[in-house]
Amino acid sequence: MTSIIPASSKDLGQHRNRNGLPGNGQPKNENKISERIRARLVAEDVSFLANDNIAEHIQPGELKELEVEVADRVRELLQSLVIDIDNDHNTQETAERVARMYLNEVFKGRFYEQPDVTSFPNTKDLDEIYTVGPITVRSACSHHLVPILGNCWIGIKPGSRVIGLSKFARVADWVFSRPHIQEEAVMILADEIERLCEPKGLGIIVKAQHYCMKWRGVKEPNTSMVNSVVRGVFRHDPSLKQEFFELVRQQESTLGA
Ligand SMILES: [Zn+2]
Repeated sequence: MTSIIPASSKDLGQHRNRNGLPGNGQPKNENKISERIRARLVAEDVSFLANDNIAEHIQPGELKELEVEVADRVRELLQSLVIDIDNDHNTQETAERVARMYLNEVFKGRFYEQPDVTSFPNTKDLDEIYTVGPITVRSACSHHLVPILGNCWIGIKPGSRVIGLSKFARVADWVFSRPHIQEEAVMILADEIERLCEPKGLGIIVKAQHYCMKWRGVKEPNTSMVNSVVRGVFRHDPSLKQEFFELVRQQESTLGA
């Protein structure tokens, strides 16, 4: 039941009770780190939806403070679920684990900057379509915060710049590591790849299983959702679009993905 009180909370001289809340048991919103970050985002008129990245609006050290705040809230959630976290050895550290998992792992694409991706001039005028995949993608649905797990294929008709193949996986991981709906995740990934290498054509296919449907709700274990986005020449030239889908189909059957 201990939590590390960040330096700033100590400085504010709050007397915290065992739930990590100020003395009256009510959170003081204006002192919460999430409120300070939120105020900054609102003042700058920046969107902070579940699948937005807000890394550039978080100052050094604030992520650690957020970790403490999120753990406090998760602890309250466990208490609201009437779980005896004081005596249940399995859940004593769950709040801290969940906070670290959300901020640094499964939703890191909201709180961390995009991994470094260097693009190079397409000096050899590479012009052939290529596809990369399957790239494993892991996300969580915005509606229930349960996993979305699947594969992604990316097809490129190169433009003026190129990036290394492994970089597609890094960018996809960063984009998907946010609460999402699959349709928006694919669009956001397409935007990022277009920004990074300005391809003449871009196609992305995502095939994923949604634990919303497997674990709860209709409990349909084998249903998957497939969606795609095509941009540039793939959108305007049906034969190129067809070539992209055919390459992915071959890749999928070769690997049995
Ligand atoms: Zn859901």
